[in-house]
Amino acid sequence: MDSSSEHPLIVVKLGGAEGIGLEAFAEDAAQLIRSGSRLVVVHGGSHATNTLAEQLGHPAQFITSPSGHTSRRTDRRTLEIFQMACRGIVNQGLVGALVKRGVDAVGLSGIDAGMWRGARKTAVRAVEEGRVRIIRDDYTGAVERVNTRPITTMLDAGFTPVISPPALSDEGDPINIDADRAAAQTAAALRAERLVLLTNVRGLLREFPDENSLLRTVGRAEIPSAEQLAQGRMKKKVLAAAEALEGGVARVVIADARRDRPVTDALGGEGTVFA
Ligand code: ADP
Repeated sequence: MDSSSEHPLIVVKLGGAEGIGLEAFAEDAAQLIRSGSRLVVVHGGSHATNTLAEQLGHPAQFITSPSGHTSRRTDRRTLEIFQMACRGIVNQGLVGALVKRGVDAVGLSGIDAGMWRGARKTAVRAVEEGRVRIIRDDYTGAVERVNTRPITTMLDAGFTPVISPPALSDEGDPINIDADRAAAQTAAALRAERLVLLTNVRGLLREFPDENSLLRTVGRAEIPSAEQLAQGRMKKKVLAAAEALEGGVARVVIADARRDRPVTDALGGEGTVFA
C-alpha cells in the first residue's frame, strides 16, 4: 500500500448556507483525521457576509451579468466586510470547533503565503434596468494559481489547514472569489484523491427543489447536461467538479452537510458523484 492510500488526501469545502451543522462536520472530520486521513478544509462566507453587511448598514447587493450570472457587488467596503465575515467569523468558528475535538487546525486565508492567486476583474459588466453598465471598482476574480507549499508543509507537520477567501490579485489586492472553484483548484494542485463539496441539499437535483430527484452519478461526458440542471450557485459547484476532474482529482462528490457524518457519507458515495 502506498502512502497516499494509507493517508488519503481529501479536500472538503463546507458551504455557508443556513442548515449546515458545524458541530457534526467537525466531529466527523476529527474522526477521519484520527483514522489517518489528511484533510484540507475550504469554506466560503456568503451567508455570514450578508448578515454582517446588514448589521453594519452596508447591505449586500447583487449584480447580474449580461449572460445571466448573479454575483455579489464587491466594492471596497463590501470587501472589508467579506474579509471580516470569512476570516473573523466563519474561519475562526470552524477552527475552534476542530481544535475543541483535538484536531490541530490552523486558519489561513488565500492571501497567506500567496496561496490563492488570480487576476482581478477590472471591468465587471452588470445589467441594470435593461442597460449594461461597466463597474470598475469591483474586487472580484477567480483563483488561477495555488501555492501548495504552505498546505503540504502544514499537513506534513500534522496540522489541518482551514482555508478561507479572499484570494490575492496579481496587483496585491484581496479579491472575492468563488470558494467552490477555489477548492477545486486546490484539490487539483494538491493532487488530492477526493474533493467533497458539502452543501444544504442532497446533491445535484434533477428537478430542483425536489430532493427525491437526486442525480447519483455524473460521468465526465455527462457534465454539460448536468450543468443545465443546476441553477444559481449550484452551477458553480458543477463547474468546480468539472475543473477538479480535469485537474486530475479522481472523484468529486456534491453532498449533504445536514447529516451526522457528512464527510464519511460523501466519501461512501452519498450525494452526486462525479468521476
Ligand atoms: P453553499 O453555501 O452550500 O455553497 P449555495 O447556496 O451556494 O450553497 O448553493 C447550493 C444551492 O443551490 C442549493 O441550496 C439550491 O438552492 C441551489 N440549487 C439550484 N439548482 C439546484 C439543483 N439542480 N440541485 C440542487 N441545488 C440547486
